[in-house]
Amino acid sequence: MADAKGRIEKLKKAINKYRYDYHVLNKETISIEALDSLKHELKKLEDEYPELVTPDSPTQRVAGEPLKGFKKITHRVPMLSLEDVFSEEEFSDWEKRIAKLLHISYTTELFSELKFDGLAVSLVYKNGVLDYASTRGNGKVGEDVTQNIKTIEAIPLRLEKDIKGEVEIRGEVIITRKGFEKINREQKKKGEAVYANPRNLAAGSLRQLDPKMTASRNLDFHAYDIVGDIGQKTHAREHEILRELGFKTDKEAHIAKKPEDIFKFKEKIEYLREKLEYEIDGLVIQINDNAIFDKLGVAGKAPRGAIAFKFAPKEATTIVRDILVQVGRTGKLTPVAVLEPIQVGGVTISRASLHNEEEIRRLGLKIGDTVIVGRAGDVIPDVRKVLKELRRGKEREFHMPKQCPVCGHKAERDKGGPLTFCLNKKCPAKHREGIYHFVGKNAFDIDGLGPKIVDVLLDEGLIQDAADIFDLIEGDIKPLERFGEKSAENIIRAIHAKEKITLPRFLIALGILHVGEETALDLADRFGAQEKIKEASLEEINDIENIGDVVTKSVYDWFRDPYNKRYLEKLLRRVSIEKYHQPSGKLKGKIFVLTGSLETITRGEAKARVRKLGGKTSESVGKDTDFVVAGSEPGSKLDKAQKLGVKIIDEKEFLKMI
Ligand SMILES: [Zn+2]
Repeated sequence: MADAKGRIEKLKKAINKYRYDYHVLNKETISIEALDSLKHELKKLEDEYPELVTPDSPTQRVAGEPLKGFKKITHRVPMLSLEDVFSEEEFSDWEKRIAKLLHISYTTELFSELKFDGLAVSLVYKNGVLDYASTRGNGKVGEDVTQNIKTIEAIPLRLEKDIKGEVEIRGEVIITRKGFEKINREQKKKGEAVYANPRNLAAGSLRQLDPKMTASRNLDFHAYDIVGDIGQKTHAREHEILRELGFKTDKEAHIAKKPEDIFKFKEKIEYLREKLEYEIDGLVIQINDNAIFDKLGVAGKAPRGAIAFKFAPKEATTIVRDILVQVGRTGKLTPVAVLEPIQVGGVTISRASLHNEEEIRRLGLKIGDTVIVGRAGDVIPDVRKVLKELRRGKEREFHMPKQCPVCGHKAERDKGGPLTFCLNKKCPAKHREGIYHFVGKNAFDIDGLGPKIVDVLLDEGLIQDAADIFDLIEGDIKPLERFGEKSAENIIRAIHAKEKITLPRFLIALGILHVGEETALDLADRFGAQEKIKEASLEEINDIENIGDVVTKSVYDWFRDPYNKRYLEKLLRRVSIEKYHQPSGKLKGKIFVLTGSLETITRGEAKARVRKLGGKTSESVGKDTDFVVAGSEPGSKLDKAQKLGVKIIDEKEFLKMI
């Protein structure tokens, strides 16, 4: 609570300062999106601690107090604003809240429409004729803009259908992008101020004291709401009625049965956004059934049954939890900011490269700072600015380590340049082949994660060693999609699917010199568990048939190397090894060699079955071979078996044995 209070105070001050810069001094010191991100954090904190809300909080600011010079109109029904959500998670939270309130385990039908970036107005018709029109104002009281509204050709002065009594239509006054650009060109020519965005222009044009000026602006109107009951039961029906009455409505609007449809729709619209005729800043999602919508009522200034699902901002604010140092293929030490996960440009990011020591100095970044993050070229996450005024005094300086964090060897700045390198030629970080091997077919076999992606992950500092692969999140890999690789979602799914692994595969994945498929199986058979292999003495390992002195020493040494020990611990915190069933069976000690192709069973299965029964398979025929299984078209192995007098069996016999 004390933390929240302190943070809220700091946020309010910062938001107020940036608001002043932007709206009073006309200076954009941080982007509107970053400012929104701060406001969003403040709103969330205040929702959590409502007792900390003060009247001077930026969240309590109501847009558009009425201008002098316009008659004031009190809305019969307040014009509410909508609560914003930015991510699928936040959207799902809203859905769950609704479901809970309604005591149902599913959400009812939703209605989804574009959220135009314009000015909300209310039009009141009396007996079918436009009586008066007003701006939203502060939600309760707006400005009478009837004369100006009448210049908008898209608004009918008389409804297409006669409706007795009063009916109120709400919608958005908007302007096309083209219209916006044209007017700004003219403004420039006249030496007058240009408008920041189509919304400001629409608002400015409607709030002109001279209707002729408004008329020259070619404003448009989209209706989205009918206030009062004229027989509409759903919001979808409302849209139909609006069209019947002579209004334009959003062509993309539709009923969505489930949230996934909305997520897909949002993705599509976000993609098309720049090509649309009008500026939009998200979707409006609401409960389609009006009775349920009304029953849900209002919370604060917003109806519970509707939400503004905003497009992902290209910049956002978040906190730097830590700065890690990653070592790349060349031995370069790269500081990487560990971020409180945040949505930027549609994906959640949790890390951003800080490139080098100089960059951290340039930013003035400390661990614990609040920062603005974006995605360079809309792809690679980067830290853009430190909001120093949000510091609490507990932030820590970062120092580039004097030792390589991977091998502990000396690390140094390169010839006075900004880059620091590990000087150890044998630094494990320099050996990425090990990671290719780790994700490969015989080891963790992670689908879609090939050397190319591993390279990028290493180069971007997203992973340091193979164990880090299990910490990746979708946003980390998302930028790689442009390389034509599998979708980030699929790769993350493939990684998580491999968090459990068999003992032999695990041993192979460790990349111990000389430990391939056969040796891994021999070790697994003999010891049955990773812990036992780790502690096995030289003699115990050497005792295994097929394992000679060189392999024995390699295995023994691997588990005693300090770097490997740390790595093994780290890896075991992320993955688990399936219980290994040591074979005990009738084929114990028997060695099989397969040759030719088998009809009813694959080679892999055949080998696995032999092993399960305690037997072994080998690729070459020798004196110790017990059986050669001859399939169709057997090769030279059959000749050799005959020469050596090894027993030859056919597939049928083999199947009986296994
Ligand atoms: Zn090193």
